Amino acid sequence: MKALTNACIFDFQSFKENCYVLFDSEIKEVGNMSEFPGADEIYDCSETIVMPGLINCHTHIYSTFSRGMNVSFDPKDFQDILDQLWWKLDGQLDKKSVYYSGLVYGCECIKTGVTSIIDHHASGIDIKGSLEELKKSICDDLGMRGIFCFETSDRFNIEECIDENLEFAKNKSEKYAGLFGMHASMSLSDATLKNISSVIGDTPIHIHVAESKDDVKDCHEKYDKSIVRRLNDFGLLNNNSIIAHCVHINEEEAELIAQNGCRIAMNPTSNMNNAVGLADYEMFRKFKIPCMVGNDGLGVNITRDFLNIVFAMKNRLNGPTKFNLDDLIHMINNGYEYISNILGVNIGRIEKGYKADMITIPYNPPTPMNSDNAFGHVFFGVFDNFKPRDTWCSGKCMMKDYKLTVDVDSMYSQASKEAEKVWKRINED
Ligand SMILES: [Zn+2]
Repeated sequence: MKALTNACIFDFQSFKENCYVLFDSEIKEVGNMSEFPGADEIYDCSETIVMPGLINCHTHIYSTFSRGMNVSFDPKDFQDILDQLWWKLDGQLDKKSVYYSGLVYGCECIKTGVTSIIDHHASGIDIKGSLEELKKSICDDLGMRGIFCFETSDRFNIEECIDENLEFAKNKSEKYAGLFGMHASMSLSDATLKNISSVIGDTPIHIHVAESKDDVKDCHEKYDKSIVRRLNDFGLLNNNSIIAHCVHINEEEAELIAQNGCRIAMNPTSNMNNAVGLADYEMFRKFKIPCMVGNDGLGVNITRDFLNIVFAMKNRLNGPTKFNLDDLIHMINNGYEYISNILGVNIGRIEKGYKADMITIPYNPPTPMNSDNAFGHVFFGVFDNFKPRDTWCSGKCMMKDYKLTVDVDSMYSQASKEAEKVWKRINED
């Protein structure tokens, strides 16, 4: 049995000081140090905060290889951003590049305390088998948890996209599962949606909705209805579906999302970077839609999005108290609950019966810290300068004293070689 000792625990619900945590792959016991029974392997957590491993509820691993990529880029709108950057990149990804982008993205996640991700994937050269490559890198080789899907889009072979989603979603474990991925209304014809609808069953979908006004306008012009109405008319709003962004949805759409048991993944940093606007959280709150936080593949450190969503929503909703830290905690816990439910595990608490997905972050509080103000310390102090020291997932130590327990150098040099090949294909295309 392993143990964390002298731990100060904050798990988005309670704050406890001077604790021990006994664990193997699961947390077996949490108690006060005065009653510590001893353990075979001890990690001293003095002067750190112990938190659950963090989660990213909407990301794109393929964005990893965009770093430093040189393409001519002068977008006038959101579609230009897709055409000039993302569709060029994902169109040239094959299985090998998918695998290596997964490895380096996963390593960066572990360094920033993220132990579970929900990914939305696309790779134009190899569609079939691509989700297995992501699972292999993220879950099998690194030991993280991942929920994957392939973003079906009319620019790809639809049958292959459908097969890839359905095939991957057939299996699941405590570490991985599949959803049914779709890019966005504006890249999916009625024929494609009908096709998906006839085979999807009750698999939850994962799709971008109303990320930009282009998507909304396209849907009204071509189909004379709102995007969520269109998805609903095809019977695609399965329970537990993830509807990403929803920056420009209306009340009717919010109601449909709520009624069908779907969730919204908000990605405020990416929305600001793409200059597409910001979602109306007050409307989501009014319809009691469970919302979660993602980063849309923009970087890795999810605490930047935890910070930005608070700042962005205060600004968007025109009031310094319209979105508060309780709203953020609520969103973070929604994410833990969602991933726990999809994978059939308990994550997100440092408590008996939960998976041992844990991180430690050195923190020396400059003012008194207690259960009433713990999240204030974490938000303004810890997230602001976020450097986890150790990361565990399912009790496996993935980073100790800031050093990953896998051979990072060879992964990064291999990944860099693969990125170079991808860039070459893009420039020759
Ligand atoms: Zn996205």
